[in-house]
Amino acid sequence: MRIVLLGSPGSGKGTQASCIEKEFGIPHISTGDIFRDNISRNTAIGAEAKKFIERGLLVPDSLTVSIVESRLLEEDCNEGFLLDGFPRNIAQAEALDKDLEKMGKKLDAVVNLEVSAETIIERMAGRRICSDCGESYNLCFLKPAADGICDKCGGKLYIREDDKPETVMNRLNVYKNQTFPLIDYYKGKGILISVNGEQPADKVYGDICRVLERFK
Ligand code: AMP
Repeated sequence: MRIVLLGSPGSGKGTQASCIEKEFGIPHISTGDIFRDNISRNTAIGAEAKKFIERGLLVPDSLTVSIVESRLLEEDCNEGFLLDGFPRNIAQAEALDKDLEKMGKKLDAVVNLEVSAETIIERMAGRRICSDCGESYNLCFLKPAADGICDKCGGKLYIREDDKPETVMNRLNVYKNQTFPLIDYYKGKGILISVNGEQPADKVYGDICRVLERFK
């Protein structure tokens, strides 16, 4: 099963992707996570990506596409994958199509999480991440049991640098101008499935599972 999870920053892609990965046994590939991991390990990729991420801009396609291309060639992707945060513009989508074609594969579905701009802004302000294990929480709908502390490992929760208000506005503009057109791109290919992402996370997940069952 080869799936793309589409949606604005803060639409709940990461939360849903972790659940889908477990249920359907396919690797969850998040370009944002790959960049953050490289930044924390001080790699050359991390240094390059950081310049763009901290301004809320897209990392250049050449770097992003090559990272995804090599990740998709890893053995655990043979039976499928779930892409989260990639593609983020038409050029990346076309590059993905070409790569899959070369491998004799194609996407089964693109799941679009529909969430209003007001909800997105509210959610991004509430997002907290564990500094130790990376688990994500949201003060609006997925609160930790104790304030500022990770339920899983007891680590301290922090606000992602790019979730700060000034960067959030840039990220939302980038989404509107560059990522939103992907909805029509995939609609045109007949593989877009939209899900109401305004519902509680477990309801959203239920809807996603129902549509993905047929690709199992
Ligand atoms: P995310 O965790 O998916 O919200 O990604 C965090 C940041 O990483 C984004 O705001 C971008 O700066 C960068 N990023 C993630 N995925 C991509 C992508 N497909 N293309 C370019 N930049 C990306």
